[in-house]
Amino acid sequence: MDIDLLKAKIIAEIDNRQTELVDLSRQIHDNPELGFQEKQAAGWLAEYLGKNGFNVESGICEFPTAFRAFYGRNSPAIALLAEYDALPEIGHACGHNLIAVASVAAAVGAKAAADEGGGQVIVIGTPAEELYAGKQVMARRGAFNDLDAAMMVHPGSHNSAATQALACQRLDIEFFGKAAHAAARPEAGINALAAMILAFNAIDALRQHVGPKCRMHGVITDGGSAANVVPAHSAGNFLVRAQDEKTLTDLKQKVLNCFIGAATATGAKLEYKWEPDYYAPMLNNLAIGRLYVNNMRRLGRVTSLGDNDTGFGSTDFGNVSQLVPGMHANIAIGRNGTPIHTQQFAKAAVSEAGMEAMLLAAKGLALTVADLLTSPSLMAKVKREFFKGQRVKPQN
Ligand SMILES: [Zn+2]
Ligand SMILES: [Zn+2]
Repeated sequence: MDIDLLKAKIIAEIDNRQTELVDLSRQIHDNPELGFQEKQAAGWLAEYLGKNGFNVESGICEFPTAFRAFYGRNSPAIALLAEYDALPEIGHACGHNLIAVASVAAAVGAKAAADEGGGQVIVIGTPAEELYAGKQVMARRGAFNDLDAAMMVHPGSHNSAATQALACQRLDIEFFGKAAHAAARPEAGINALAAMILAFNAIDALRQHVGPKCRMHGVITDGGSAANVVPAHSAGNFLVRAQDEKTLTDLKQKVLNCFIGAATATGAKLEYKWEPDYYAPMLNNLAIGRLYVNNMRRLGRVTSLGDNDTGFGSTDFGNVSQLVPGMHANIAIGRNGTPIHTQQFAKAAVSEAGMEAMLLAAKGLALTVADLLTSPSLMAKVKREFFKGQRVKPQN
């Protein structure tokens, strides 16, 4: 079949399911579930894929709410990743209900491409993006090993095929001091809270002298319990972020030095632990990105290749992008650049504009899968770029 005819067929497959896709996304939005508790969302998505001809395996990688669904066989094996976790209190304020259904709809649409060109369309349900770097654990357990490419689209305030995302690692801190009466015998105490406050101030002093994409931010989770007792224990956790792994390694040591220095200054004993599962920086595959940009243009949504957004966090898709050629695109769902992780964004994620963007993203993804499944030369280009380790040039 001519590629244009195939693409028209894929678009029609998604259009024909518009009502049920929107309903599924609204259902997930109306029933927000936190990371690793997404039983309903994972179940509904897997069920929908099963009904649409996919082989579904639930509970992969020892995660009850992770799943893998495939259609077709052999290679290329192209995965569409579905996220479906919500945030505490503000629900689907990151719009993962849109991500999940965009990927599932794209996979159903792209079945026609697997029938035509061979290969597999795979949906991998990846729980707990927000708080636990779920994909990093799944990567360690082999979930992405046999893929030729992986992609997804995140809702936001701009349209781009690439995403800037920082390397990020969590640091857990405890100071152990010595309790004493804060007025009667202060000289007998060692103040664990003072150590924590000193470390916060040292990190703020460091902040002026780090690169523009370095971020260090934390909270105190234990600062003592009574004002008249010298706190014998304090605890907190920090996130340290940088644009690449080398910068992150350097910054981690500098941040840790702030805690070591505070321990020396106060006499409190420091214990710390770097979380082993960390967020890797994004490696954007621009060969996939260019295909997506062209497909989105065809669908009427102008999308830039690079990511000009000045606000950036981290995503566990970064970890996937280091293993297989990956695209983490962005699609705008609101008119006024509503920031993610807000109540307004949760509203946008269930609005008409949100649903329209979700269906567009599904089509853009499905057409890109079709390009890769039907053209060995395009697939080869994607792999060449990946093995050269080309990174998207930082735009700010
Ligand atoms: Zn988020
Ligand atoms: Zn998100």
